[in-house]
Amino acid sequence: MTVARNPIADLCAIAAMPGLEALAEAIAPVCTLRTDPVSQIVFLAGQWTLGSRNKLTSVLEHESTWSEMRESAARVGRCLPVAPPTQNQLRHVRGRAGAGFGQVLADAFTVAMAPLTRSVGLLPEHAPRNLLRPDRANIAYGDGSKFKALSDIHVDLKTGELVGSRATDDGSPRMLVPEVEGANRGVPQIPLVTMGVHGDKRWQRVVLGVGLYLDYREMDASMNLFHKVHSVYGESIHAYIYDMAMTGDHIQAAIHAGVIPIVAQRGAPPHNPGVTVPDGLRFVLGRSNEPKNRAAIFRLPNAAHWVGARECVHAVWALDGALVTCDPADLRPSFDSTALGTPHLAFADHPAGDGQQLFATYRVHCRNGHIEYTLDLSGYTATAKGGLVPLARHVRPIDPTGSFTELRGLRSDVESSYRTIKARSELFGRSSSLAPDHVLADMVGAGLWINAVAWDVHAAQHTDNGRRLAASLARPKRSATTKGAGCRSVAPSGR
Ligand SMILES: [Zn+2]
Repeated sequence: MTVARNPIADLCAIAAMPGLEALAEAIAPVCTLRTDPVSQIVFLAGQWTLGSRNKLTSVLEHESTWSEMRESAARVGRCLPVAPPTQNQLRHVRGRAGAGFGQVLADAFTVAMAPLTRSVGLLPEHAPRNLLRPDRANIAYGDGSKFKALSDIHVDLKTGELVGSRATDDGSPRMLVPEVEGANRGVPQIPLVTMGVHGDKRWQRVVLGVGLYLDYREMDASMNLFHKVHSVYGESIHAYIYDMAMTGDHIQAAIHAGVIPIVAQRGAPPHNPGVTVPDGLRFVLGRSNEPKNRAAIFRLPNAAHWVGARECVHAVWALDGALVTCDPADLRPSFDSTALGTPHLAFADHPAGDGQQLFATYRVHCRNGHIEYTLDLSGYTATAKGGLVPLARHVRPIDPTGSFTELRGLRSDVESSYRTIKARSELFGRSSSLAPDHVLADMVGAGLWINAVAWDVHAAQHTDNGRRLAASLARPKRSATTKGAGCRSVAPSGR
């Protein structure tokens, strides 16, 4: 049986969730005596439970809704004013704050949510750490996404023409004005980055931070957010998962912070008959419909040892982030080259006091015995042309090829957050405003709503609905167990 979520219960959870005062404090200077800052935050989050501000406004007009929310807040010692917040109040407060309202909220949000995150069992402190197989509760994920502006009307930067407006006269159509020169290239989209963490259970999901990027530099914005979130949670973040937009410098930045970076990128399928002639430093696979048709290869320093008076040399290559070895006489490795397998990983303080270093030690097997081969993944390596590149650009601490499905699953978590938000909005995935900073403020609201649900189900069971949902998670799934039981009884035990 599925237990449905209930918007009024979500509103009550929002009214009682921890952390609202810290956010309210950030906007208190722009609130007037008659506008209660906590209620404004409740309104900002509450709009997501119903899909739009208008709907929330009309629901709040029913006296019973607001009084139920006030009672809910009172149970955690929070006093909300008698009159419900309104759309106009929020607009007024935002207007007084001017540009940067969303940013102020976003900055306060990351800090304010830390106690809630811990209360739902995510990013626990002092959790045992396995570098090669981080626990899901200690893996943070990040991603960027673009929200189409509410209006498609924009000026084509090439032709200077107004596109999408059906107005026949020269009025002033509502359109997105990029705040940064050249931003968005005239396309009305508002780009956002977010960070979150998702536990094993349903609704055990917390948004850790949100940010904007207007200059096409998604990873810069994501890494800024990463550092902000990391400054709050520190060593509780064991790993950081991102898609293939995360490359050498960002991977290195995560390592310096003492976090294992995981790039959830599909590796080229090994032993694929479609592999054709190596094209420069890349293999090109023959079938273009493969999920990934290129494998990046990079030559690393040789592994060498002395066998009697003779030096035995092994060429080492990074093949799609994983290490392989072959005879130095072979100009390139192939998918048949010997994989070096899983490294032993160890963090160490950087001698220059510059954060952390990450050492990966591999074992190179040879008929003359084996060699230990260690790389400093926070360091640099020389290219064939003599330049220096971050080693982490070519060698990944956790090779995504082997455990790809699992990593991909974790990677999807962030997309599910965006999907939830986009699906919930009555604007069908469009952003709620033309001004990026307003959208950022609304995204803080969306984060609060998602976090309030996690808190209600996994920490407080504050509402009846939260209690029911928690109980439904504790119940075993009947159909699955009866079906699987017969199969398992004939399978050999011992695994
Ligand atoms: Zn050897």
